[in-house]
Amino acid sequence: MIERLDALEAEAARALEAARDESALEEARVRHLGRKSELTQILRGLKDLSAAERASVGARANRLRETLERFYEEARGRLEAAPAALARDVTLPGRCVPRGHEHLISQVLGEIHTIFLGMGFALAEGPDVEDDRHNFGALNMPEGHPARATTDTFYLRPDVLLRTHTSSVQIRVMESHKPPVRIICPGRAYRNEAVDATHHFEFHQLEGLYVDEDVSLADLKGTLDRFLKEFFGPETELRFSPSYFPFVEPGAQVEIRCFFCGGKGCSVCGPLSGGWLEVLGAGMVHPNVFRAVGYDPERWTGFAFAA
Ligand SMILES: [Zn+2]
Repeated sequence: MIERLDALEAEAARALEAARDESALEEARVRHLGRKSELTQILRGLKDLSAAERASVGARANRLRETLERFYEEARGRLEAAPAALARDVTLPGRCVPRGHEHLISQVLGEIHTIFLGMGFALAEGPDVEDDRHNFGALNMPEGHPARATTDTFYLRPDVLLRTHTSSVQIRVMESHKPPVRIICPGRAYRNEAVDATHHFEFHQLEGLYVDEDVSLADLKGTLDRFLKEFFGPETELRFSPSYFPFVEPGAQVEIRCFFCGGKGCSVCGPLSGGWLEVLGAGMVHPNVFRAVGYDPERWTGFAFAA
């Protein structure tokens, strides 16, 4: 019995010493000092022992209980002191400040850049405040052109406005660079629209322009097919249909099969769309646009698109 008590002391001392947090320490206390612990059972059974045994075992068992209670108090003291000791340790790394994430628009633009830069396009930018020539005149929309009426333009002065599309950057790039030109231009555009779920007076556009010798409609289709499948997924179905924009001829609108409903029709693609979402306007650059920037339309051809 005395030997068993010696073994219990070693076992309990190890458990109390090893406890690294409050719950582990409490578990060790219950196991070795609690009402159902072996030590408590031995103390309760003393009355059944012979007088001689009761004296020796009783003395040893009571001493063990005092020892373990002291160990327990020491272990608890160590745990309570630990955080204070840690706080004084100037070699610890600082506390982490939670970080936010990139804005969703920035994330999307980053993906688009990566795809087009991989196809050899460069990034171009232009001013949000434009003059009439860059926003309209050079884009085959001379004064009085009916297409001007389709955008409710914010004018700052009679000939100065907030650009209604990023196509103005095409003109700026072609004025300052000789062909070949291969650019994308993301940016804000402004139109006096009533705000609802799908319209805003300030919106983001992505413009693309490719000018070289012998650029064809096939190049336009191939480029947009590659872009849309990389961006929306390799299974993306797309279709081109004729459309009108003054600065391209021929012009096309590009639609993809609605990825919300798979083409069955839903609140995103709308009841009249037949399950298609319009994602881009595109076309071959109009010869009048080339003339306006001093490019020879007999030599150069190109395509433009905007989303
Ligand atoms: Zn849909």
